[in-house]
Amino acid sequence: DIPILEVTNLKKYYKISQGLFKSNIVVKAVDDISFSIKKGETFALVGESGCGKSTTGRTLLRLTEATSGEVRYKGKDLMSLPYEKMRFLRKELQMVFQDPYASLNPKMTIKQILTEPLRVHKKYTPSERTKKIIEILKIVGLSEEHLDRHPNEFSGGQRQRIGIARAVILNPDFIVADEPVSALDVSVQSQVINLMLDLQKEFELTYLFISHDLSVVEHMTDRVAVMYLGKIVELTETEKLFKDPKHPYTQALISAVPASHPREVKKRIVLTGDVPNPANPPSGCAFHTRCPFVMEKCKSIAPNLTEVADGHQTSCHLYSEKKEEKTNVIIHSE
Ligand code: SF4
Ligand code: MG
Repeated sequence: DIPILEVTNLKKYYKISQGLFKSNIVVKAVDDISFSIKKGETFALVGESGCGKSTTGRTLLRLTEATSGEVRYKGKDLMSLPYEKMRFLRKELQMVFQDPYASLNPKMTIKQILTEPLRVHKKYTPSERTKKIIEILKIVGLSEEHLDRHPNEFSGGQRQRIGIARAVILNPDFIVADEPVSALDVSVQSQVINLMLDLQKEFELTYLFISHDLSVVEHMTDRVAVMYLGKIVELTETEKLFKDPKHPYTQALISAVPASHPREVKKRIVLTGDVPNPANPPSGCAFHTRCPFVMEKCKSIAPNLTEVADGHQTSCHLYSEKKEEKTNVIIHSE
């Protein structure tokens, strides 16, 4: 279980001007998160839109620069790599985007789209390139006759296959997939997911899978980090998360997913209120404005992410309470 990627205290803050007087406000899009991803696993980042999961994915690949923190890929600190070296490493670290139409240049043919990464990173002759492109098209379920067509001539599912082909053509080790199936019809989603799972085996890929759709996450990931307003509030194995979610936010998210197996959370927990404005997050536990179990201290004291069961971390005062109670019991019995 060697980590391929280790993220430590990652922060991405940006300034926005707000209001009549254009006052500068700092938005903590990613606020001090740490996690590591094991080689060959599929690690999910989940949460509602605006929670910082896409920003995290983009920051890891340096498509946007972090404010601070460390990201180690196979032991190398990516954040301090000079641009040229990072560019070189890009062949190992790829991204699949949510909207395959927006991420594929409409003016280019499929052949041109897939030639680009090869031209930058491989010393192939034109005929070797074409051979490689046809090979990868077959792997993703397309064919040679698609070479000279443009993205708009394909269905959404086919376009995502092209996006995936572009990501795997350089034989990468690590792929950030940001909502790769959310824009697709449900019937097409499972085909694309199965393709991703097949490619994972074939190319020994590690995935960071970003999604707001928990039924997809349950089906295809090994471990999950749940994010809320820029922070990780729960992190554990996918199976444990669905069987026994600890954080009230996770419990609410999971209670809304149709269950494929029995779960401990049986009652539907309906969250009231919207996600607060990330430019002005609530004090204390950022979830306190929507939490059905909110206590007085939640409004002023932010809970830390701590291990509450074996391999299961969460940040919620409900569990630190329990720990204190346990400690008291021991003291009384002595
Ligand atoms: Fe709810 Fe308090 Fe736990 Fe936050 S710390 S999730 S407000 S119980
Ligand atoms: Mg997003």
